[in-house]
Amino acid sequence: MQAPSFGGVKIPSGNGQVIRLSRGASLSDFGDRIDVNPASLVQVMMHLGEMVTATQSLTDETLQLLGEELKYTIEVVSPEDEDRELLESFSIEFGEDEGGEEDLRARPPVVTVMGHVDHGKTRLLDAIRNTNVVSGEAGGITQHIGAYQVATEVDGEERRITFIDTPGHEAFTAMRARGAQATDIAVLVVAADDGVKPQTAEAIDHAKAAEVPIVVAVNKIDVEGADPQRVRAQLTEYGLVAEEYGGDVQFVDISAKQGVNIDGLLEAVVLTSDASLDLRANPEMQAQGLAIEAYLDRGRGSMATVLVQRGTLNVGDSIVCGDAYGRVRAMLDENGDQVQKAEPSRPVQVLGLTNVPSAGDNFLVVKDDRVARQIAQQREARERFAQQAKASRRVTLDNWQKTLEEGERDELLLIIKGDMSGSVEALEESLLKIEAGGDEVSIRVIGRGVGAITQNDINLAASAGAIIVGFNVRPEGKNSELADRMGVDIRYYSVIYQAIDEVEAALKGMLKPEFEEVQLGSAQIREVFKVPKIGNVAGSIVRDGVIRRNSKARLIRDGVVISDNLTVDSLRRFKDDATEVREGFECGIGIGYNDVRVDDVIETFEMREKPRD
Ligand code: GDP
Repeated sequence: MQAPSFGGVKIPSGNGQVIRLSRGASLSDFGDRIDVNPASLVQVMMHLGEMVTATQSLTDETLQLLGEELKYTIEVVSPEDEDRELLESFSIEFGEDEGGEEDLRARPPVVTVMGHVDHGKTRLLDAIRNTNVVSGEAGGITQHIGAYQVATEVDGEERRITFIDTPGHEAFTAMRARGAQATDIAVLVVAADDGVKPQTAEAIDHAKAAEVPIVVAVNKIDVEGADPQRVRAQLTEYGLVAEEYGGDVQFVDISAKQGVNIDGLLEAVVLTSDASLDLRANPEMQAQGLAIEAYLDRGRGSMATVLVQRGTLNVGDSIVCGDAYGRVRAMLDENGDQVQKAEPSRPVQVLGLTNVPSAGDNFLVVKDDRVARQIAQQREARERFAQQAKASRRVTLDNWQKTLEEGERDELLLIIKGDMSGSVEALEESLLKIEAGGDEVSIRVIGRGVGAITQNDINLAASAGAIIVGFNVRPEGKNSELADRMGVDIRYYSVIYQAIDEVEAALKGMLKPEFEEVQLGSAQIREVFKVPKIGNVAGSIVRDGVIRRNSKARLIRDGVVISDNLTVDSLRRFKDDATEVREGFECGIGIGYNDVRVDDVIETFEMREKPRD
């Protein structure tokens, strides 16, 4: 076949040869694989109408496009596949029990509690913790490590159940999106005085999609007007038919608040598990499982709660968990007690990892520290790649005009979140009035709401390619990191006309951002101290990034900005002045603002000159 020519550059045809590239690969990576100078590929891309540099991460579509042009068949490999291959290169298989049927032993079910907000999920998890009678622990389970195991008696036999301690289906779905499934059974909490609500239905959908059997906990039966039979009737419409109505779903009437019939619920979980699941695992292999939650402890370093899914985890094992690795120095259970080993379905907190893994990361024991380190490092490098690819795809106010010119979009999609419904409406109305340069571009508001920027907003923005406009509100929890990871542009304003100006400028392609706000870190207030002459000082723990003296700060309460334009005037570690304090550490922060309260968040940032796209 003749070599195609691109403005003078000749590249031999791939003749349909299959090339596997990882998501986020660059022209250099591609060039290496087909033995072509990346500079030539840059020219080919130009010929195709795209300006890209040799080392820039490319989107899946761009890789495919380039492949087609050069007659290669490109296979973009997903992170999950890549991970499987990475482990295979160390002769490790993740996710399978070794050996045959005869090596499998029964393991306890792992349960997630789901349901509509305020129907009592948290309260139920607390109640179960407290009624763990068989374990003989006075006062029940006291530590929150992200999951706990309880024992109950069914037909005279001691049976164990593991509960994931994060209620709701968000964590459950986030894990599933990453190809990980920890949950065997879902307990659906429905308040008997409120009945089936939107999130009840959502939870049912998620559980069904994951093929996880459901046990219904009809809660709040102590409340006047509670109607447990109505809940049963309502749920038949969702295909959940109670046993007493001829179906196969266990419904249990409980009061989480008064601790009524919690045992009955535990029994129903065991019975459902026995009837519809065959939960077995090989305890005699090197342990594998999932990280459920992790954080950095000031004194002890990385604390990661893992759920063992197969094998037995022992103190002293070399493990790798996401891109963290290390040797298990100690393991703690939900009572804060040290344990030496953890068998299938057991959650334990592991000490000894180099850094903090993410929830949903898989963990596995490997033969030595060297292998653990190599796997972790390769994962970390891959993650970096993938992030670059996402960042290059993002739609931002700054590059929107470029996206427009490339014909990829003729509408600017916005999601508006504000502190009050009045301000959201006013902002939406004003934004929609903006006259863009010509009819071919327009603004469409695809979502709006009052309150902090949620995971849902960010997911919606990411899937639709929308920009989030936050008016006096901030992302809740770790959502600002999530937005970053997903390549979602969030714009914060506290003055309406500023928002209008910027959006208008972006529409007209005249946006001249000179400075941008760069997040430095945030801290949560745990205690407020009165200091003579200085005022109130916030005893805080740094949640992420660093807190730096003299940086700009704002105070956030329940996701709403209470005061902007503050400065970190004083920063102390114990009795000493500090210039900066890092994630996981405690400190005293003075921001020259007296109304600071426990649980408020201090967010710090600085203004940096912004590179133009
Ligand atoms: P979640 O949002 O589903 O986690 O709900 P919570 O567990 O936070 O409970 C919401 C509210 O309902 C709290 O005020 C609980 O005290 C209350 N609550 C939970 N279970 C019961 C119950 O069985 N009876 C009564 N009367 N109130 C309950």
